[in-house]
Amino acid sequence: MNKTVALHTLGCKLNFSETSSLGRLMENAGFEKKNFDDVADVYVINTCSVTENADKECRMLVRRIQRKAPEALVVITGCYAQLKPKEIASIPGVDLILGAAEKFNIVAHITDITKGDSTKICSCDIEDVHEFTASHSLNDRTRIFLKVQDGCDYNCSFCTIPMARGKSRSDSISNVIANAEAIAEQGGKEIVLTGINLGDFTSSPALLQNEKGVAKTKLNKQQAAGNFFSLITKLDKVEGIERFRISSIEPNLLTNEIIEFVSKSKKFMPHFHIPLQSGSDKILGLMKRRYKKELYKERISLINTIMPHACIGVDVIVGFPGETDSDFMETFNFLHQLDIAYLHVFTYSERANTAAADMAAVVPVNIRHERNKILRNLSYQKMQYFTKVHIGETRKVLFETKNKNGLMEGYTDNYIKITTPFNALWENNIIEWKI
Ligand code: SF4
Repeated sequence: MNKTVALHTLGCKLNFSETSSLGRLMENAGFEKKNFDDVADVYVINTCSVTENADKECRMLVRRIQRKAPEALVVITGCYAQLKPKEIASIPGVDLILGAAEKFNIVAHITDITKGDSTKICSCDIEDVHEFTASHSLNDRTRIFLKVQDGCDYNCSFCTIPMARGKSRSDSISNVIANAEAIAEQGGKEIVLTGINLGDFTSSPALLQNEKGVAKTKLNKQQAAGNFFSLITKLDKVEGIERFRISSIEPNLLTNEIIEFVSKSKKFMPHFHIPLQSGSDKILGLMKRRYKKELYKERISLINTIMPHACIGVDVIVGFPGETDSDFMETFNFLHQLDIAYLHVFTYSERANTAAADMAAVVPVNIRHERNKILRNLSYQKMQYFTKVHIGETRKVLFETKNKNGLMEGYTDNYIKITTPFNALWENNIIEWKI
């Protein structure tokens, strides 16, 4: 009988796509995939370093595994595994920890260990991680998350991601196109382009060597011609894929050229997710973000002008050190007057080894939570308003599979969620829908 594997993702869409790829690697090696709640021979947890309780969540999941399958091998990978391997090694029941460079060598590492051995840590200094490994989700969802970029060269003062994921690096455009074509062949209809700093996509030198005959190692980012704009213009021509979404893009990298292109494209959906983090220039400076609120406003205004139906989501952090009541009100007022659809609100929490963790003027935790509540309320109202504006319109909805309640869900081009009783004919199909 085949050995079995169950996988679980904590964190973002990029992690989700990587977990899918890890699952496929295990399946190709003869493992049968199981649900995480089932009993399996191997459990893989792909962790996150952004969620506040990464360590607690990880411990809780390992305890759950130990209760139902004490003989199973437990593998921990992902950002938390890269940042704190020793901390994870102290969790009883963990057998193997795979850092950023070793994640995709999981099959080789698994065959090397036996339950009961001491915990094995396979990790290296993040500075030594340069390789890019493409990954995408498939058969997990109708919308497929395709990873095209990894790592980040920015140094936002609150963020541990560059320490967990390393320098910015990307796939080659030709490889992304090949992956998109393969996804189309397997019936995928919508691809969500994902990356850590997606707008920083720079087609890998290998592509330029292939396409233009330029020496691979001599290229740097300035020389490389394949930027994010080139990528999306080429993807737009891939047959079979009906929709693309850009998962999240930094405002300074979301150029007018990209916005104008999306407004004319039939395949790139009118949906943007643009991190703001604060509506106060003072706080943006402390955060070491690479833009001021004015630039952000200009981007939103251009989108609103040429795509009034577009859905715009915004990330914002509350309670950053130094954020006074009036800084927070500045953020609130800024967001209030912006024509956007929803907010993702994060409460600031200290992260070891970041510049922000050493900043004085710490905001008391209860105030951070109060501010979070205020912005969540604003987000709710924005979403209600955005949805109401489109009532009565007919828009295209891509329906996903049956959910637990016998219903199905789908999203319009501009990311309005539609829920309706399941109809097999609509699954993974685009339907004209009166909202
Ligand atoms: S852009 Fe800033 S917040 Fe985003 S991953 Fe890079 S350092 Fe972190």
